[in-house]
Amino acid sequence: MAKLEQAIDNHAANLDEETREAVRLASKAKTEKRVNALWTDFDDPNALRKLASQVRQHALDNLPDYLEQAEAAFQKNGVQVHWAEDGDQANAIVLDIMRRRGASKVVKSKSMVSEETELVPFLEKHGMEAVETDLGEYVVQIDGDHPSHIVTPIIHKNRRQVGRSFEREGLGEYTEDPLELTRMARRHLRQKYLDADVGMTGANFVVAESGRIVLVTNEGNARFSMAATKTHIAMVGIEKIIPREQDVPLFLSLLGRSATGQPLTVYTQFIGGPKSASQEEGPEEMHLIFLDNGRSDILASNCKEILRCIRCGACMNVCPVYRQTSGHAYRSVYPGPVGAVLSPLLNKAGFPDLADLPKASSLCGACQEVCPVDIPIPDLLLRLRNKGKQEHAPKTSINTPGLSFWALAATQPAAWKTGLKLGHAMNVVPHALLDVNPSAKSWRSTRELPPFRGGDFRSWLKAHEKKGGAS
Ligand code: SF4
Repeated sequence: MAKLEQAIDNHAANLDEETREAVRLASKAKTEKRVNALWTDFDDPNALRKLASQVRQHALDNLPDYLEQAEAAFQKNGVQVHWAEDGDQANAIVLDIMRRRGASKVVKSKSMVSEETELVPFLEKHGMEAVETDLGEYVVQIDGDHPSHIVTPIIHKNRRQVGRSFEREGLGEYTEDPLELTRMARRHLRQKYLDADVGMTGANFVVAESGRIVLVTNEGNARFSMAATKTHIAMVGIEKIIPREQDVPLFLSLLGRSATGQPLTVYTQFIGGPKSASQEEGPEEMHLIFLDNGRSDILASNCKEILRCIRCGACMNVCPVYRQTSGHAYRSVYPGPVGAVLSPLLNKAGFPDLADLPKASSLCGACQEVCPVDIPIPDLLLRLRNKGKQEHAPKTSINTPGLSFWALAATQPAAWKTGLKLGHAMNVVPHALLDVNPSAKSWRSTRELPPFRGGDFRSWLKAHEKKGGAS
């Protein structure tokens, strides 16, 4: 069994029922809210998705020009622009800025690229205090855990677990009241903002035309991080560019609705540089780090469409594999369908280490249907499976006897029909006999084999058409 399949099976088997239910309910609720928000507010959300997809693809197809335009615009606004080839370079730039500013404490709002570069452990290793200020990310940090969803990092935890973590860290007495837990975190984090020297953020979008970053949060933590500190550092992937200011509303409308079913995320900020001479508060310096970390290679590959992603998380919420396994089973920063494509391509250790990730999909197509920038995720997964097969053929499960047998039957109509007739035998074969094969036993230990109901699709369709049913 491939490494990932094993990891997913183990993870799925070890997820306690409460956690599995929490992930399933939360992702289902978000999916329903998304549908309501999009179809109530717009006549044709799919037309908006197509438009957003075209704008993002246009930006990617002309990325060098837009990056150059963005750099000039940011510099004009007084922003210091840095370029990092990989995560190590990006982290080193942050450390260098902090040392030059005599800083030792940084407050951070949620940013997937800084997860990618493992910034917090890097800064801690160099004697800096780095505090995550997004509530979910803060819980992940104090628990020594990892986010399992790109929008809701602790989708895998419940309020009782959070209550115990806060009590352990001395934030207050144990409670499982969400309001009180939020108050405890707020009291604790407010002081951290006041004590910090540097505020770090990512950016949801970078506008090339104006040299402004657009940031959205539901907790307002990004604005606290910037308002209270003297230095603002934003780290962004080079693909986050959108060409014009007038493109921003389209993406904000789709992002909030796709991520959480909100018409707009609660706080939206447009940051165009350090504080001006007339402003009393705010950072005296702003730095923007553009991170490549493998993105240029993806842009040159046959999977470049994945760079259109605006990190809404909708594909995770709707994915039947993600709902069963939660995010940690993907063993990478980006879980779910987007992660199954992006993670192997961005992986520091190279493609082979995560080459089995694209197989973590039923290819049902739900991910593409919900994607606000219409990324053809199932096609990309197939391209990556093909890449894995070509580059590492002996390790891929397509060569396993089970699939070879299936391929033979599926390409021989007579064998297929005989197989369907024999299928009823499966209902009477004692399961113990199937379990003789260790792989089959492991597979079956987390699944119920449904009874074979028989019949073939063509006969069913003919009968259905005769009855006058829709085809
Ligand atoms: S791939 Fe699409 S649906 Fe998934 S996170 Fe990215 S933008 Fe959202």
